[in-house]
Amino acid sequence: MKILIVGAGPAGLYLAYLIKRRFPDWALRIVEQNPRDSTFGFGVVFSERALEFLRADDPDTYDGVTPAMEAWTDITVVHRGVPVVIDGIGFSAIGRLKFLELLRGQLEATGVSIEFEKSLGEKHDLQGHDLVVAADGANSWLRSTADFGTTIQPLSNRFAWFGTTRVFHTLTQTFVQNEAGHFNAHHYRHSPQMSTFVFECDAATWARAGFERMDEFGTLSYCEKVFADTLQGHKLVSNKSVWRSFPNVRNRHWSRGNVVLIGDAQRTAHFSIGSGTRLAMEDAIALVNALSQHGKNIPEALGAFEAVRRPIVEKLVAAADASAGWYEHFPEHMTLAPREFAWSYIQRSGRIDPEKLRKIAPKFVAG
Ligand SMILES: Cc1cc2nc3c(=O)[nH]c(=O)nc-3n(C[C@H](O)[C@H](O)[C@H](O)COP(=O)(O)OP(=O)(O)OC[C@H]3O[C@@H](n4cnc5c(N)ncnc54)[C@H](O)[C@@H]3O)c2cc1C
Repeated sequence: MKILIVGAGPAGLYLAYLIKRRFPDWALRIVEQNPRDSTFGFGVVFSERALEFLRADDPDTYDGVTPAMEAWTDITVVHRGVPVVIDGIGFSAIGRLKFLELLRGQLEATGVSIEFEKSLGEKHDLQGHDLVVAADGANSWLRSTADFGTTIQPLSNRFAWFGTTRVFHTLTQTFVQNEAGHFNAHHYRHSPQMSTFVFECDAATWARAGFERMDEFGTLSYCEKVFADTLQGHKLVSNKSVWRSFPNVRNRHWSRGNVVLIGDAQRTAHFSIGSGTRLAMEDAIALVNALSQHGKNIPEALGAFEAVRRPIVEKLVAAADASAGWYEHFPEHMTLAPREFAWSYIQRSGRIDPEKLRKIAPKFVAG
């Protein structure tokens, strides 16, 4: 069997490792367009439950990554300067670069070397492989090689992904208002020295604030002013922190011929539920299981992969869509008082009803 994996993000790296571990004799190539240590963004979070899949399926990887993670048990929602703590909803976080380094180290220890700075862009690059895996992210080139029934719907809010040296205690959602409009920051520590700081606003605020005419540094300075109380004198740090609209990627077909989509290439899940990386890794586990069960029969294996995985993915994506929908209207929710606002926030994905919340977050509900 000859397998080509395009993209060495979480999906591609983890899939390559699982394949090499399960089928040591298969020939495997993994290519990545960027240099070894380049990545975008700062940290990523995993919900407590999100890490359970890894503990259960792959204790080695779980034990490899969890010591490098920051963990906490509460969420804080700050509105009108009032912090409301929602207890009992735990998360772990890790720097994206650190996470990729760990996955890479684990893969390279199996003897696979990643072909860095190699960008595939021609159909003939794919020839000679029994299976081609598109793990090339939301802007996947491989998706353009066949009709996957792809739709890409950009959300109207804008965001920029920064870091900061201020180390926050919990995952915090801070909402503020100024003369231009309404702003939100998703912030949490992802290492003992650094936090992630995703700055977001609605399209009308973005236009009124004049971000279109600002460069990356201008945006960063503006954001530091808006969130001066939150940052308490700390600076923001940028890393390709340009304004983006989150793309909702969906595909009617997950495979065409011998090409299969996994991770963000297959679908994105809004970052506000912190599940994109976990979904990408679960795709890898499911694909390797399907290959194990169906041997070298690629069409059968890809059909089985989609049949098992699609219902699970669609459930999570529905929750991500509901959460994204709440953010698309956050200026309207900001008319609520802080505690009601936090209540609206925590119910946004439709997955936590009041009874369930009473069990998970007794102090918050009692308050
Ligand atoms: C602001 C923001 C915050 C987020 N926060 C979280 C979070 O807290 N928790 C979470 O779980 N997820 C989060 N995510 C989502 C997460 O980043 C993605 O779901 C995850 O990275 C998907 O992994 P992937 O491997 O499928 O794609 P990617 O990470 O995008 O990797 C794709 C790789 O393919 C390479 N590539 C692309 N085209 C080619 C080509 N033609 N040839 C060779 N290589 C190519 C790219 O360089 C890249 O390295 C966030 C996303 C955003 C935008």
